[in-house]
Amino acid sequence: MNIDFAKYSDGLVPVIVQDNETNKVLMLGFMNEEALAKTNEIGKVTFYSRTKQRLWTKGEESGNFLFVKSLLTDCDNDTILIKANPVGPVCHTGADTCFNEVNRSDNFLPYLEKVIEQRKSLTPDKSYVASLFKKGLNKIAQKVGEEAVEVVIEAKDNNEELFLNESADLLFHYLILLNAKGYKLHDVIQILQKRHSK
Ligand code: AMP
Ligand code: ZN
Ligand code: ZN
Ligand code: ZN
Repeated sequence: MNIDFAKYSDGLVPVIVQDNETNKVLMLGFMNEEALAKTNEIGKVTFYSRTKQRLWTKGEESGNFLFVKSLLTDCDNDTILIKANPVGPVCHTGADTCFNEVNRSDNFLPYLEKVIEQRKSLTPDKSYVASLFKKGLNKIAQKVGEEAVEVVIEAKDNNEELFLNESADLLFHYLILLNAKGYKLHDVIQILQKRHSK
């Protein structure tokens, strides 16, 4: 193998791990020559951990190993891309990937949709969204109904703060319902746009 370890003063080459099936980017780690040799030897992604200061086979405690399917290098051999089959969640938070959408504030609702998509794979005790998904579609739909009724009630009262907060509850749970049905806000917006152009 012709990886350019010497390019880095610490001899650590960045390694991107991608899911061989979903193509999701799972995590980034670093390998020295020894870590790469070990990875090739055992067929499981093994990094050099800068925090642990030793070789770290991902999954050594959790059992969530990353089985190497293919190993690629970039044009100048200073970066590695590994396509792997993960046994379970890659992130120690329980998520399938370590990468999370960052809010760019100009586009909050689509951002929130992505957060919901990410949270739904977490364990229910770690996330309200995951706990709703565990209860199932009927429960989620019922929750939207309840929040809608609360909006109606607060609309009749004069407490503006309660009205706005119930509106936020409704919108949030509606986004969850859309996700549970396999849709995105975009699908609904398209219908509105079509109607509008008539
Ligand atoms: P594991 O390699 O999955 O057995 O996890 C062993 C330890 O490594 C965990 O306790 C975490 O501190 C850390 N760890 C696990 N997965 C990751 C990850 N994807 N990124 C960073 N640190 C991790
Ligand atoms: Zn490069
Ligand atoms: Zn992580
Ligand atoms: Zn409410």
